[in-house]
Amino acid sequence: MEKEDIEKFKRILLKMKRDHIKERKTLEEEYLRQSTRNQAANLSAYPLHTADISGDIYEQEKEIAVIENISEIMHKIDEALHRIDTGKYGICEKCGKEIPKTRLEIIPFTKFCISCSRK
Ligand SMILES: [Zn+2]
Repeated sequence: MEKEDIEKFKRILLKMKRDHIKERKTLEEEYLRQSTRNQAANLSAYPLHTADISGDIYEQEKEIAVIENISEIMHKIDEALHRIDTGKYGICEKCGKEIPKTRLEIIPFTKFCISCSRK
């Protein structure tokens, strides 16, 4: 791959990383606010609205899943940045062939070419 292309993907990956950090922070704050609110609801002397609470718990679980997903993508971004530094970026880890640029433009942190990722 051309040096300019590598630089381009590096910029994309760094921007993705920044965006993900921001998004995770927002979600974590939202999650904390919700848990505090749920705790307050559990401690209150008023009868609990079960449906509301389980809805909140469902929302929380969904948020945890999203946060975990973001962390996973961030890990992949870091790995991709490391591959750039070591000169292995854009090469499939399984078959050793070059990953087409069109694929990297869609998933810049991918380790595998299309046929290997389908296996
Ligand atoms: Zn491959």
